[in-house]
Amino acid sequence: MGDLSGKHALVTGGGTGIGAAIALALRADGAKVTIAGRRAEPLEETARQGTGIATVTADVTDEAAVNEMFAAARDTHGPVDILIANAGAAESRPFEKTDLALWQRMLAVNLSGVFLTARAALPDMRAQGRGRIVAIASTAGLKGYPYVTAYCAAKHGVIGLARALALEVAQTGITVNAVCPGFTETPLLDASLRTITEKTGRSEADARKALAAANPQGRFVTPAEVAGTVLWLSSDAAASVTGQAISVSGGEV
Ligand code: NAP
Repeated sequence: MGDLSGKHALVTGGGTGIGAAIALALRADGAKVTIAGRRAEPLEETARQGTGIATVTADVTDEAAVNEMFAAARDTHGPVDILIANAGAAESRPFEKTDLALWQRMLAVNLSGVFLTARAALPDMRAQGRGRIVAIASTAGLKGYPYVTAYCAAKHGVIGLARALALEVAQTGITVNAVCPGFTETPLLDASLRTITEKTGRSEADARKALAAANPQGRFVTPAEVAGTVLWLSSDAAASVTGQAISVSGGEV
């Protein structure tokens, strides 16, 4: 696309999986990129793959840490034009075995993390009269799956947040959207497969087959495919697209 030159994009969870693919795609499109996460090592590993990628360690569930993350990002690359709220985690447990701690962990990282980062991003975007906020939700924000009630509730919440905030800032040049991947080949998927094999005794190959079968295309989504949608939403071409939950799932939803 090539129209993001000079724009500063902050990608949470940008050291691995979908976030890393998004960061590299934004950088290839000309954006200055900052990636954030709790662990320095995967961030540095991704930053090594593209010059012009800065790293900052931060926990998106911690309000003070989020503010410090924005301050550090601005110091390096200037005001933030594009926020990709991608950091997330998926723990599975039957509903009746879901304790309050798991429930709160899932809401904290998947929903409150988006709230805190989007809120911190808005002042720069308002000042510039342009901005893009893209939350990486999930098909679990659009439909239910068994054994992940807390994750599904959090991801449904992210879509509600995006729809409401989009209306609140509709006349400011800022768009707010959610991208909803189906099962995507990343470390998070590997962890889900491990849980299935441990809990059910199925082989990993069987577990992979079962999850891939949820996608009508019969395969997993790739991180690059999610990044392609994010790139478009970040561009001027998508200026009229706001408040949407866009499924990238081979037709699953
Ligand atoms: P992943 O590789 O595990 O990425 C998650 C990233 O979030 C990691 O880089 C992790 O880094 C970061 N993170 C986790 N908790 C954090 C926290 N408290 N503060 C800051 N960063 C945090 O998995 P992924 O599949 O790429 O996931 C990216 C997003 O896509 C998530 O929101 C996930 O829910 C969503 N998604 C994934 C799939 C799938 O099938 N893979 C499908 C639909 C949606 P640190 O651990 O270093 O903090």
